[in-house]
Amino acid sequence: MTVPDIIIAVDGYSSTGKSTLAKMIASRFSLLYLDSGALYRGVTLFARENGLIDKDSNIDLPALEKALEILDLHFVQTTEGSLTHIGRRCVEKEIRSLEVANQVSPISAVPFVRAFVDNKLHEAGAAGRVVMDGRDIGTTVFPNAGLKIFMTASVEVRTQRRFDEMVAKGGNPDFEEVKKNLLDRDWIDSHRETSPLSRADDAFILDNSEMTLGEELAWVEGIIRGRFGILE
Ligand code: C5P
Repeated sequence: MTVPDIIIAVDGYSSTGKSTLAKMIASRFSLLYLDSGALYRGVTLFARENGLIDKDSNIDLPALEKALEILDLHFVQTTEGSLTHIGRRCVEKEIRSLEVANQVSPISAVPFVRAFVDNKLHEAGAAGRVVMDGRDIGTTVFPNAGLKIFMTASVEVRTQRRFDEMVAKGGNPDFEEVKKNLLDRDWIDSHRETSPLSRADDAFILDNSEMTLGEELAWVEGIIRGRFGILE
């Protein structure tokens, strides 16, 4: 089954499984998968490592704005997928830490940070055949995306999934701390002034609290067939 040169936007709350679903769609339809959150996490890691954000998340805005003029944050396409790099350094592991997760939402609420990331996303998605996940892809980054999906799931299910993921990676997370991080991020992401997390009017809602991955993929395939008139 092939799809036209479209962009598919997968938005939604933290830890709803956006990247898992987006990667499955990408592999099923031979599209490029791009993780917009990775760029916000990359900026956050950079700010942390360069003393541009303190432990209370006070951001040195003038210094960060200046630094972004030359920050070389980009994706490198590999057989393992697209990996986030700062210059020649792969930062995939570092950007997934709870420390970065705890500070990414204040950083991503800053308008010039959003402009910096949007620019990179537009460049990366310009050629189409892309599935991109995030919070504002269908509303702001690619409002003309050919298909928009908005994901949600219960807080308990989301916390358990993120908790299991961290344990699988060798971490020793605290369940309540993981839950607090999700709720805090959702609140900041939904209430910021610039491009808040919200469902585009034309997005399909997917609540996957009680669904298996196979059921999710079947759901998306059904929508894609209907939307693009694909018969086989
Ligand atoms: O998707 P992920 O959880 O990795 O995103 C990390 C954070 O980046 C989100 O909590 C949000 O603050 C920010 N983000 C955003 N807009 C996007 C993608 C992510 O503000 N399109």
